[in-house]
Amino acid sequence: MTELLYLGAAVLFIFGLKQLSSPRTARRGNMLASIGMLIAVVVTLANMENIGWGPIIAGLLVGGGVGAALALRVKMTSMPELVAAFNGFGGVASALVALAEIERTSSVFDTETGVVVALSLGIGSITFSGSFVAFGKLNGSLPGRPILLPAGQVINAILAIAMIATAVWAISAEEALAYWIVVGIALVLGVLAVIPIGGADMPVVISLLNSFSGVAAAMAGFVISNSALIIGGALVGAAGFILTVLMGEAMNRTIANVLFSGFGATTAGPVSTGDKPVKSATPDDVAIALAYAENVFVVPGYGLAVAQAQHAVRELATELEAKGVTVSYAIHPVAGRMPGHMNVLLAEADVPYDQLLDLDQSNPRFPQTDVVLVIGANDVVNPSARDDATSPIYGMPILEVDLATTVVVVKRSLSPGFAGIDNPLFYQDGTMMLFSDGKAAVESVIAALGNV
Ligand code: NDP
Repeated sequence: MTELLYLGAAVLFIFGLKQLSSPRTARRGNMLASIGMLIAVVVTLANMENIGWGPIIAGLLVGGGVGAALALRVKMTSMPELVAAFNGFGGVASALVALAEIERTSSVFDTETGVVVALSLGIGSITFSGSFVAFGKLNGSLPGRPILLPAGQVINAILAIAMIATAVWAISAEEALAYWIVVGIALVLGVLAVIPIGGADMPVVISLLNSFSGVAAAMAGFVISNSALIIGGALVGAAGFILTVLMGEAMNRTIANVLFSGFGATTAGPVSTGDKPVKSATPDDVAIALAYAENVFVVPGYGLAVAQAQHAVRELATELEAKGVTVSYAIHPVAGRMPGHMNVLLAEADVPYDQLLDLDQSNPRFPQTDVVLVIGANDVVNPSARDDATSPIYGMPILEVDLATTVVVVKRSLSPGFAGIDNPLFYQDGTMMLFSDGKAAVESVIAALGNV
């Protein structure tokens, strides 16, 4: 019965994951996977001889309550740090399972079990400390820029070798203390591995740590022979790794380059925009440009999420469509602060999915586009990534909005975006800047449209 219920949970995980691949089915997918996890947790605990239903229900209520409170309170823009914290908890949970097993058996294992115990401890502890450094960097309690330590990579390599050697000692000597030393080294390694990574690379690292938390969970599953944990962990490990590779591709970076290059360490600091002239526009100017266009692209970015302008944008699109304008949305894979951020926001405002175009679909259309309305996006439309080999973001694929006839950029100032660099798009001939909060700007353009 237990194995059958675990199988049911695993099927729910897989269907849930599959449904996450489209915004249309993602909510249902999330629900299915959550039900699978609930079944797996309850079945596992109910099988324990010394745990009654009272503590199980209490645990579900407390854990579920904390999870629900976090999920309701967290802002969409803070999602990556929440995910970082969840990864950290996942890592430490797996390490604790292995530590409990060491305690239970006085560290007397056959070699296979010893190896998975050591892997669960090592990977789980690296994930724990690395994820909380990532969390600190994202929520501002640690400096977000890369911190490069002298000979950092050499130190990390020595620590990694020391951790493996200690694990071999622990397994062969059946020595509990050695397993604890593995934990200690892994915790330090997690901190030192994430400290030199910063800026726009953080989401890639969080995705990689997510994958690690899955691998640690799968190892913990082997330790306690729990098939649901093995399958769930393997799915998280694989899915996290695929997402890491895809995000790296979207930024035109290899994973090795993300992990070891200290990218962005030298670009921090104030950006000088010089005294280059920009064309400042009023809502009336923008309303006229939009109303007389045949086709308009909206490019959302992080600022749209901050301003919560998605409903206003949808309203503007409806007004324009009523005037016969064709409206589409160009979505960059790393726009915003988490994968799929813009899709989630626009879905919330019921923007039809078939109007959302990705990089490859949008770029060929920009040269024939009358007006591109860039709202709170910056790095993802920065032509330096294409044109300036010295730019820190050189090589990152961008939405080539600068090829459209007119570009309207809505943001509050000339401040840089996440990568901390100036954007030549703002100063080019066909660009108008509407300096305002994203939502206020769109609302005033809607009001101005009434007079056109
Ligand atoms: P950027 O971070 O490049 O720029 C956002 C712009 O929004 C800023 O220049 C800011 O300008 C403007 N802004 C902020 N608040 C408002 C507001 N209330 N109203 C209007 N504008 C506002 O965003 P992009 O989406 O273009 O690029 C995403 C960046 O984040 C990339 O560098 C990416 O690599 C990185 N990243 C992506 C993640 C992901 O997974 N998607 C995760 C983490 C980082 P101003 O202050 O002048 O208003």
